[in-house]
Amino acid sequence: MARTKSQFVCQQCGYSQSQWSGRCPECNAWNSLVETALQVQSSKLKVQNEGRIFKLSDIKIDEAGRVKTGETELDNVLGGGMVAGMVVLVAGEPGIGKSTLMTQVALNSYGAVLYVCGEESAAQVAIRVKRLSGSTSPSRPPSPKIGEGKGEVFLFESNDVDEVVQKFEGEKPGLVIVDSIQTLTTADLAGTAGSVGQVRECAQRLTAVAKRAGIPIFIVGHVTKEGNIAGPRVLEHIVDTVVWFEGERGQPLRLVRTVKNRFGGTDEVGVFEMTDKGLVGVTDPSRMLLSERVEEVPGSVVSVVMEGKRPILAEIQALAVPTQSPVPRRVATGIDYARMQTLVAVLTARAGLRLESHDIYVNVTGGIRLADRGVDCIGFFEPESIGEDRGGGRGRTSG
Ligand SMILES: [Zn+2]
Repeated sequence: MARTKSQFVCQQCGYSQSQWSGRCPECNAWNSLVETALQVQSSKLKVQNEGRIFKLSDIKIDEAGRVKTGETELDNVLGGGMVAGMVVLVAGEPGIGKSTLMTQVALNSYGAVLYVCGEESAAQVAIRVKRLSGSTSPSRPPSPKIGEGKGEVFLFESNDVDEVVQKFEGEKPGLVIVDSIQTLTTADLAGTAGSVGQVRECAQRLTAVAKRAGIPIFIVGHVTKEGNIAGPRVLEHIVDTVVWFEGERGQPLRLVRTVKNRFGGTDEVGVFEMTDKGLVGVTDPSRMLLSERVEEVPGSVVSVVMEGKRPILAEIQALAVPTQSPVPRRVATGIDYARMQTLVAVLTARAGLRLESHDIYVNVTGGIRLADRGVDCIGFFEPESIGEDRGGGRGRTSG
């Protein structure tokens, strides 16, 4: 028999304790502990999950056994494709294109796909499928596998993880996609959908069945701009692979980045362009990023940044405008705000630029975020060109 006990679970980091407190002792977040009822299995039941022992030499690793998703950019990020029983968390902000990518993967699949739509109705997914399958027209670069042996996609409207697990084991599809983990619940827990307890428990159940059945599964998880919603953070240690889907809304560029991969490296970055026909892999992102660049414009610099193993040319724009305000504005888009402040401080102290009387705006075009510190040094290479503009109406700095 199961007994019920309650725990206070931090909605930010997943830390749990038996007492309520105003501040999480683990991550110091305020007011983040929420009471969650847990059903703890009795020790008798746990015996069933006893581990098995394998001889190392008996384990066969078959690289050829990787199944392609049909999206080359995604396959590279996964380490060459999907592996049997692989659990992939696809994390990103709502509306960034996670469902679009997952729908494309489903359409490319050889075998039957179980697409669990908790977020949308089956009809809504079907509308997207119709829009995307129109994209197999010549305008879209052909995926290596698409059309060769398309599997059937089964849409399953459900918010009950146990129902999903049952279908999973009963139907034995070739691939399972869950969109999204925040909509699933189990009746065994009292928490609402999207709470840390539910999200974690549902992910654990899906992972267990994926491993048992040897079927790969993609789990979609939403994060907010701050990345602090219950979900991806608490799931990272449960799943095999975590890919982050990045990009600015209104901009076409999307980056898919691995932050964890038990089946490959984490230094690959996939690049997609969001089009009206869906996501299209981009092999030369630099060309796309620089396509609208006007040359010889003050305040525009092209820099080489490393995204994973891939060098990318990105345009950094900077504008310094004289201001009367005692607190000048500093706006950084696409680069770290504190890094920009540091560079401004260095330019002020060492290059003699009177930046304290200027508003400064720095922008990276294309909606990408630069984490590579290699872009920092540009400011030092061109100090004189900034000096020329001193006192002028339009100043110039470099990121
Ligand atoms: Zn916490």
